[in-house]
Amino acid sequence: MAITAQFCQVSKGFNDGDRFHAVLDRVDLTLHQGQTVALTGPSGSGKSTLLNLMAGFELADQGEILLGGQSTRHWQDARWSAFRRLQLGVVFQQFNLLTPLNVRDNIAFPLQLAGLDWDPWCQHLSDKLGLNELLERSVEQLSGGQQQRVAVARALAHRPLLLLADEPTGNLDQQSGLNVMSLLCELAAEAGSTVLMVTHSSECAAFMHSHWQLKQGQLLELASRDAVEG
Ligand code: ADP
Ligand code: MG
Repeated sequence: MAITAQFCQVSKGFNDGDRFHAVLDRVDLTLHQGQTVALTGPSGSGKSTLLNLMAGFELADQGEILLGGQSTRHWQDARWSAFRRLQLGVVFQQFNLLTPLNVRDNIAFPLQLAGLDWDPWCQHLSDKLGLNELLERSVEQLSGGQQQRVAVARALAHRPLLLLADEPTGNLDQQSGLNVMSLLCELAAEAGSTVLMVTHSSECAAFMHSHWQLKQGQLLELASRDAVEG
């Protein structure tokens, strides 16, 4: 199976006053195409840092990160931007929707960056996520649960190689959050996207292929079952 992302002995830390605070300590990981992984760990353990490294929002201090089989060691800003635009989908806790735009234009935004427009796949996402009645509405008028569904559709609109989600159910009631996360995994499988999701929910971790935990700079694999090739 093709490898979407790989960390080889990746370390990252931050200066905290005059002290250096190590966050990730020689982390190795491999994400296979179509795999879905739940990432848990105590607050401050480096979950967001790990996602930020994978998206190129932060750079590693040491080690190597490969994306889509390519070393990112010499990637400049333009190459990282191209990766994010064409191959990455993200769902943040605060959803970060584009507030002057309506739901349809938010979902189609990643396609428009690539010179494309709303297509049958977008319509499928809208059908499955129950967004058809909301397409012409401004995203500011939506409830938290509705905004979350728009954020999921937008993250998958361009069928990304990799979808990163950082506590995407944080502010929502548990049952509706879980329903949307299981839909996210189902739709990601249809798109062939690999999913790495930070979550505090063990129910959510249970329907993903693997469960990784970050603790004291180390990544542990708590559970794994075979990824279904998608
Ligand atoms: P988590 O997402 O698991 O709660 P984070 O990855 O956000 O943890 O943070 C891990 C540690 O790194 C924390 O101690 C945090 O304060 C620190 N940290 C994260 N990003 C930065 C940054 N840009 N500058 C300084 N310290 C940071
Ligand atoms: Mg975090």
